[in-house]
This record gives sequence, C-alpha cells and structure tokens, in this order.
Amino acid sequence: MSSVNISVVGAGSAVFSMRLVSDICKSPGLSGSHITLMDKDEERLHTVSVLARKLASELKFPLEFSTTTNLTEAVKGADFVINTALVGGHAFLDEMRKIGEKHGYYRGIDSQEFNMVSDYYTLTNWNQLGFMLQLARMIEASSPRTWLLIAANPVFEGTTLLTRQTCARVVGFCHGHMLVDEICKTIGFDIERVDWQIAGVNHGVWLNKFRLNGHSAHNKILEGFSESDSFKPTNPFDDTFSPAAKTMLDFYGLMPVGDTARNSTWAFHYDEETKKKWYGEPWGGVDSPEGWKWYTDMLASVVKMLKELALLLEADSATSLKQVYSHAYSSLPGGLREDARKFFDPDALSGEQHIPFINAIVNDEATRLVVNTPNTGIIPQLPEDIAVEVPALVDSDGIHPEEIDPPLPDRIVKWYLLPRIMRMEWALEAFLKKDPSLIVEILLRDPRTRSYEQAVSVVKEIFTVTEE
Ligand code: NAD
Repeated sequence: MSSVNISVVGAGSAVFSMRLVSDICKSPGLSGSHITLMDKDEERLHTVSVLARKLASELKFPLEFSTTTNLTEAVKGADFVINTALVGGHAFLDEMRKIGEKHGYYRGIDSQEFNMVSDYYTLTNWNQLGFMLQLARMIEASSPRTWLLIAANPVFEGTTLLTRQTCARVVGFCHGHMLVDEICKTIGFDIERVDWQIAGVNHGVWLNKFRLNGHSAHNKILEGFSESDSFKPTNPFDDTFSPAAKTMLDFYGLMPVGDTARNSTWAFHYDEETKKKWYGEPWGGVDSPEGWKWYTDMLASVVKMLKELALLLEADSATSLKQVYSHAYSSLPGGLREDARKFFDPDALSGEQHIPFINAIVNDEATRLVVNTPNTGIIPQLPEDIAVEVPALVDSDGIHPEEIDPPLPDRIVKWYLLPRIMRMEWALEAFLKKDPSLIVEILLRDPRTRSYEQAVSVVKEIFTVTEE
C-alpha cells in the first residue's frame, strides 16, 4: 500500500469526477492518498469536493482532499495529474459549430472526415490544446517523475502533441475499448474467455484479434447485426451494430470498436437524413443535432443534480450520500443508473482506466489496459512519433505495449489511419504556428466547401471571435 498525490484538473467534469473518486475508494493500494481537486469553476469544484469527501467517508476509505483553482498548486508535488478539463466548456463548442453552420459547414468545421465526434475539436479549440501543452510543460519543469494522464479530448492530437513537445510522462485514455465487452455480450461470449486486441489511433481502433479457444471468431460477430432496416438503437451512442459499423466492417475488413463507427467518411454524415439511415432512428447517432442534444442535456442534468445533492448534504450532515444519490439517479437514463449502483458497490470499478493505471504503477500490480502511447514501432506501418491506441501491460516499470498480432490490414492503414494521421498533422501544424490560413487550406479539401471565399469567411469569423 502506497499513498500518492493525485491531482484532477477540470475536476468539475460531468463525465469523470465522481467515477474517478469512486475508483480510488475501491483501490486499497492507494489508501491514504492525497487528492487535489482543481477546477477554475468554483461552484463545480465545491460540489465535487463535498460529494467526493462524503463518498470516501461512507466507503470508509482513508483519503485526504484539498481543492484549488490554481493550476500551479495542483501540479506542485503531484505524482499523477489527470486532465479532464474542457476549456471553454460545451458552450464554446456550440458557438463554433453555430458559426460553421452559418457558413455552410454542417455540424461545424471541426467535424471532419474520420473525426465526426462532436466534442473532439481539433481545428478551432486552440485553447484546449494550449492548455494541455501548458500543463505538460509545468509538469516537465516540476518533476520528471510525474505522470500526466490525458482524459480530455482530443486524446489523439493531445497525446501526440505533448509527447513531441515535452519530456513529461504522458499517457492518454479513452473508454471506447469497453465496447469489446458489448460485442461479446451481444453474441453470447464471455469476454474473459476471448483473446482480443484492438489497435489504431484514438477513436479509430479496430478489432484485429478476436479468438475463442485458439480460433478466430470474427465471423461470429456478424450474428450481432440485424437487417439494416430493422436496426433500432436504444440510445444515440448505440451504434456498435449499426448499418454504419457493418459497412465499415465490410470495406475495411475488421470490426470498428468504440467511437470508430462514428468516425467514418462523409458518406454517413452529409445531413440528418443520411445520419438516420446509417445510425438509426430517431437520433441518427450521437453526432446529429438531436443525438448531441440528448447527450448534452444529460450532462447538464448531471451537473445540476450533483449540485443539488451537495446542497442537501451540506444542509444535513446526517443524510447519507448513498440514499440521495441512488434516488436522484433513478430518474436518469439506464447507463447512469448503473453508474450510481457502481459508486457504492465496493467491488465495482467504473471501467475508466485512470485509477487502475495509477494503481498498477504505484503498487507494481501488472494490469492490462488500453493506452494511448507513442508508437515506437508498435504498429510498424505507422509513423513512430504519433500516439497509438493499443493494449499494454502496465506495472511499476511503466507501459509495455503488446505485439499487435495479427497486424492491421493494409486497407485500414492506407484508407483510414494514414488519412486520419495526416489530418492530425495539419491540425497540429496550424495550432503550433497559430496560422488560420492553414485551416482555410484544410477546408479547401472539405466536400462542404463550394468556394475559396466560403472557407476564408468562416475562418475569419471563427478566429476573430476566439482571439484572446
Ligand atoms: P465539462 O465541461 O462537464 O467538464 C470540464 C471541466 O473542465 C469543467 O468543470 C470546467 O470548469 C473545467 N475547466 C474548463 N477550463 C478549465 C481550466 N482552464 N482549468 C481548470 N478547469 C477547467 O466537460 P465533460 O463533458 O465532462 O468533458 C470533459 C472532457 O472529457 C472533454 O474534453 C470531453 O471531450 C472528454 N471526454 C473524454 C472521454 C474519454 O474517454 N477520453 C469520454 C468523454 C468525454
């Protein structure tokens, strides 16, 4: 058992904060650790602090907490820094999307071929990339031993940028790989008995290995797909067995995993009608106006609910968090109800990998995780200086990526990954040179662009609005 200093930057995150604290409370090897919660939004910070302290106390797990709005304080003395901050928040993303749409760019200019995810901005949110870089540089200057865990998007661009520009120890995480379990459940497999691997880049990962009893079971996955016309998603994220995923499987030769089915060419994303055809009615996937509204409304209701719970607990310290939490969550969609159940189940982790990673490093408990880490020959067909997303064993010596076997097929490398990597390179060059004319150049290769003037005018408006 080793106590360490863990800082969560952007601790008010609706997606992550409570999951991370709950996971620490289920990791006996991290007992006695000091958790620094950092956020620039004092109200959100206070809310998370009240709930986190109460959760640790109800689970009888010894932790120390402190809060700060100061990034330097959060970095000082930290062994691990987890970054979940979204600079500008969802409001900024919405504003950029609106400007893009005004100029004829449906879903905004950040929606690009192989990157349609609606909070994965690589072109307009330079503040987000700038914040990640600032954080990594502070860590680099403060301690070479500190790990920076990237949860905030864009994980691919962010992890690649930080590992190129700094010497900080950086690793990126995404929960997309958890969909391998969904594939297994749908076709009646126990994931514990399946020998599987995924490989690619963040939000572009492919199930290269799927074996049961030593034999490939890829064909069995086909049983999970229904006829295109009868595909009925249960929520906007339910796209693992969508017609989009099936068409990608047919063309690329392997099953797309997690958010990969969202990240296709424009063929599935031209407009709402097209999205509904490929991702199912009524939403047309999560990256449609209706699907994204469903998601952001849910996030907003979680933030509001957490704030109300914190107020309740402050008003009456005898109230149990478990009671109020479970009650409040019961009115939310199924996935969140499951979250609430897990918080208080001493044996259930959230499925996020940040805390298992820290535990593996600190306590030398070899753990298999899916990480975003510099390529260094792991996927030999791809450049070495990019972050790839692959399974790895993590222990006190660090990250030991698995050999990717069988290798990714040429079709995926040449028609999906290399074009996606080129778009990452364009975006990072534009960011590093702070050169909006490069964004114009990117848009000139975008099927939504009808004239040079259109690309210039949208970039002019966006970069005037975002000027600091
Ligand atoms: P959110 O807006 O609810 O939370 C972000 C938090 O960051 C807020 O509390 C905000 O106050 C804080 N913040 C903003 N600027 C800050 C700054 N300069 N310093 C400190 N804190 C700051 O966003 P969310 O929906 O919870 O998403 C957070 C991030 O996680 C996003 O980038 C999102 O795309 C990403 N995400 C990643 C995964 C994954 O698996 N890797 C999954 C979902 C979301």
